[in-house]
Amino acid sequence: MQEALLTPYPFIKVALPVPMRTLFDYKVPKAIALRHTLKPGMRIKVPFGKSSRLGVIVSLSETSDWDPEQVKPLTSLCDESSVITEELMALCEWAARYYHHPIGDVIFHALPVLLRKGENAEFRTENWWLTTQEGQNLALDQLSRAPRQQDFLKAVQQHPNGLSQHAASVLDLAPAAGKTLEEKGLLRREPRSFNKSGEKHAHQMQVPPTLNPEQTIATEELLDHRSHFNVALLDGVTGSGKTEVFLRVMERLIDEGKQILVMVPEIGLTPQTLKRFEIRFNTDIVLMHSNMSDRERLDAWLLAANGHAKIIIGTRSSAFIPAPNLGLIVIDEEHDTSYKQHEGFRYHARDLAIKRAQSLDIPVLLASATPSYESLTNALQKKFTWLKLRKRAGNAHIPEMERVDLRGKTLIHGFSEYALASIKLCLERKEQVLVFLNRRGYAPTLMCHQCGWIAACDHCDVNLTVHKRANKLHCHHCDTQKALLHTCPECQSEELFTVGEGTEQIETQLHTLFKDTPILRIDRDSTQRKSAMAKLTQKIHEHDQAILIGTQMLAKGHHFPNVTLVIIMDADAGLFSSDFRGMERTAQLITQVAGRAGRAKKPGHVLLQTYHPDHAAIECLCNLGYEHFAIDGLAERKSLSLPPFYHQVIIRAESSNEQEAMQLLAAMRNDLEPYFSKEVYLVGPYAAIIVRKAGQHRALVSIKSPHRGPLHQATQMITQWLEQSTRQHKIRFAIDVDPLET
Ligand code: ADP
Ligand code: ZN
Ligand code: ZN
Repeated sequence: MQEALLTPYPFIKVALPVPMRTLFDYKVPKAIALRHTLKPGMRIKVPFGKSSRLGVIVSLSETSDWDPEQVKPLTSLCDESSVITEELMALCEWAARYYHHPIGDVIFHALPVLLRKGENAEFRTENWWLTTQEGQNLALDQLSRAPRQQDFLKAVQQHPNGLSQHAASVLDLAPAAGKTLEEKGLLRREPRSFNKSGEKHAHQMQVPPTLNPEQTIATEELLDHRSHFNVALLDGVTGSGKTEVFLRVMERLIDEGKQILVMVPEIGLTPQTLKRFEIRFNTDIVLMHSNMSDRERLDAWLLAANGHAKIIIGTRSSAFIPAPNLGLIVIDEEHDTSYKQHEGFRYHARDLAIKRAQSLDIPVLLASATPSYESLTNALQKKFTWLKLRKRAGNAHIPEMERVDLRGKTLIHGFSEYALASIKLCLERKEQVLVFLNRRGYAPTLMCHQCGWIAACDHCDVNLTVHKRANKLHCHHCDTQKALLHTCPECQSEELFTVGEGTEQIETQLHTLFKDTPILRIDRDSTQRKSAMAKLTQKIHEHDQAILIGTQMLAKGHHFPNVTLVIIMDADAGLFSSDFRGMERTAQLITQVAGRAGRAKKPGHVLLQTYHPDHAAIECLCNLGYEHFAIDGLAERKSLSLPPFYHQVIIRAESSNEQEAMQLLAAMRNDLEPYFSKEVYLVGPYAAIIVRKAGQHRALVSIKSPHRGPLHQATQMITQWLEQSTRQHKIRFAIDVDPLET
């Protein structure tokens, strides 16, 4: 009796980072139960097989489904309070169900990497220098023969509250001198908790512009809905002042003591973006993105978790950031596919954020110039509040789109004569040109003139891309790299030539055509180093005339005020894609790139090079714009029973053996189909468009249904079936709910 009172919950259910869709039961030893209050969301160490694992408590339980004698006791407790709040635990559980993904993997995904590895959920401590009584009183000239010590002591004397080690290094003080002063008893060190807010930079604050009528209406509407769940789609052409609208809404919520999560696409978080927030908000802002160190991410996470950070700007994974006073989630460029994780735990951060906001009863704001068909449908069906901005803010105008017919024309390095003449004129006006080609590298193919051999990846069914500058052949699918070949491995001929053009080649050729013009390439290869993008943007702003050449990286979030001409080298890429989402993506990309033109006072012009100038899609996009294009596209999706009208799940399987994945999925269909609801439609198994990737042969089954319920049930049956059947085989499978790629 006594014992039962002391430990009302003798069992805990634990999530472990293992690919199993279950929780694991453990016993709470009496010694731990007496001294600590266990709560869901705390990390613990548990025995697992022959080793020990870090786990997260999901719930406390009076009973276990297993024989209590067999249930092992947990080893130790890692936290005194929960690292996964109740709110986030519920979100993780929902996500695990919705995406049919192992709960342990979901929960661990929600934690910063260092917490997954067992690091304490505490701010790192930093040593601060302080003077001793003696050190404070010492006359500095007594150290005149040791100038470094003299400098050091002087600086610390001037900071009666102490000088952080970081600040000392910024002041260029010699650490060895500090140590010597410490040994002499003049200085002492004190560890203090790292607090980023102490290092805040002073910014010249910006006076916000006066809102135009469209912006005013949108802002007021959003403010009306600021204290309850509501999803608003802020649908405004590029440069229409969407950011300005959400900055206004944020201002009000911050005054009301709320925290705000602003999500941005993976590569949309530019230094310019951060600056824009810093000059508007005199409050603590933290960033969360993949270019930060694990420690920096944990510190940002802690600042959000303790409520200190008022604004959190982050990419996909920040959907799981704890924020006790969260009052709004903004999702900028909501159509961007980087919000969907394409591997492992395949969640969509936008959809997750909407679910989270619903549970918290707070608003979500989705912003885009090219809303996803999903969001547009929700807006059309009045599930989302639809706010439109149709004019550019300030004095800027929407750029004019012109098709350039390439049929029968002689091209010079991929450019039509008309495009080259337009570039020349633009440069003469001391303005900038943006050339868009969504293919990095020098050329997509290397071929032998004598025997027709083509350089292909050994592990994937694709050709290797030629990277001349790096002197390499590179597989863009599995990252395999080889030295660039100069003789054919089949016939030893030295007549190897490249087919097609990538950004690297266009850059080289533009150099020969426009000798004295600065030419800057912006793609994944040229921006690999941490500060490369910042340096490139700086250069772009330094010059009057310049040519920028780049991939889709250029389409995101950048503001190049002097770009007045945009050339889309290959508007047809994506027109004939086998993926039904190809058209949507193409239209978004073209519209976003085109939107880089004429963002400031000068008018912009866009040239689309195409072999299909009369293609209905290109014509519609040029003459009627994205919204019209999308509404037509949605009508087509509806008539074909495609998403977003039908819900879709893709079952992916891969095996090193050519047949196994395909056979497994066929067997699954055979076994289960009779049990599915009539409202569930299966297609497949069929081979992936690129069948072999990184040595794995890939097969898929697509299932769809007009209703989520039956689709969910079918997926659950499939998951169970596959889990059992793959135990013996070396086949991996994945469930992709609401997939964005086929
Ligand atoms: P979007 O987010 O829609 O691309 P931004 O909010 O970035 O648009 O606005 C585009 C440009 O117009 C920015 O330089 C911004 O400072 C400016 N701007 C926005 N609203 C106004 C306004 N009401 N008056 C003048 N300039 C504005
Ligand atoms: Zn050959
Ligand atoms: Zn490959």
